[in-house]
Amino acid sequence: MAFPLAPGSTIGIVGGGQLGRMLALAAARLGFRVAVLAREADSPAGQVSAVEIVGGYADGEAVARLAALSDVLTFEFENVAAEALEAVVARGVPIAPPGRALAISQDRVDEKIFLNAHGLATTTFVAIDSAADIGPALAQLGAPALLKTRREGYDGKGQVWVKQADEAEAAFAAIGAKPAILEAKAAFVRELSVIAARGWNGEVAAYPLGENRHEHGVLRTTIAPAEVEDGVQAEALRIATTLLDALDYVGVIGVELFQLADGALLVNEFAPRVHNTGHWTLDGCEVDQFEQHIRAVAGWPLGPTDALARVEMTNLLGEEALDWPALAADPDARLWLYGKREAAPGRKMGHVNRLSMLEMPE
Ligand code: AMP
Repeated sequence: MAFPLAPGSTIGIVGGGQLGRMLALAAARLGFRVAVLAREADSPAGQVSAVEIVGGYADGEAVARLAALSDVLTFEFENVAAEALEAVVARGVPIAPPGRALAISQDRVDEKIFLNAHGLATTTFVAIDSAADIGPALAQLGAPALLKTRREGYDGKGQVWVKQADEAEAAFAAIGAKPAILEAKAAFVRELSVIAARGWNGEVAAYPLGENRHEHGVLRTTIAPAEVEDGVQAEALRIATTLLDALDYVGVIGVELFQLADGALLVNEFAPRVHNTGHWTLDGCEVDQFEQHIRAVAGWPLGPTDALARVEMTNLLGEEALDWPALAADPDARLWLYGKREAAPGRKMGHVNRLSMLEMPE
């Protein structure tokens, strides 16, 4: 494949959700065609793409149909079957980010082992295969500790705090009696994330840190650029660059961080895709995370990542999106809606970016 891809080339996206929608809008802006693989017709991404293929993300035949239309393949959803993507690579269609990044991020134990092996600190942890493993692990890690499924957890789902050993059976049952990880409680003072990108040529660019607040395990707000002490942004860049290089990564990555009282950063997890905590860049930066991802996978130069404004991003969950008339009338609110019909409780329906002046360093 000849990079940079010329406008008119087709970018294939596995996943039909809001991240795919915003990727497709960014790709269209640069003159690309987009084909998406979505689980249901009329998906948020399919509504704004040239082609929508309906099929499962583990459906090798559907992934192959998408690949046949695509000059490069990417994904917006991290629970895609890594095997289905490997088959695409075998057909000679380039895929970015690499399937290996996806496979590592899909297993919380493998992810932490990989991070630690590359000198990136995480909270301490023990792999759990049965309820009987929990008591000894709790004694080792200290209580309380957080039990999470190894795979397919997101937005705080499949997680339960364990305070004492006699809760082991109930806790293991509560997460579905699946292979799990027990994590020591990270004594963080705040949650940060760094959104970064790497090109096919190894070039890396990172956005200013965002500070994130979660409610019930779901992201509520991101404030960016986060007001951090000297050195924290540089440390986040070091973490992101180390990780991107170790994965031989291409595209945008989201790295969730815990900042401890002494300023040190632990990696919570990484997502091999554009990330909800990077939505502030849509209105706060010259080149947002979605355009940056398209630039990276298409072999274009990465764009500038400086913040032009301070942004507070708020997710619109469930029926909160019904407030769109008031939000549309608010001159300070930049409104993004995802085209989802069913406003199920807690479902991410859209987000709002509120801009204010960036305080200039003295
Ligand atoms: P995760 O699904 O791993 O991103 O976890 C969701 C949220 O749970 C995080 O954003 C934190 O607020 C919290 N959390 C996860 N892991 C830990 C931990 N080891 N210690 C304390 N809080 C955690």
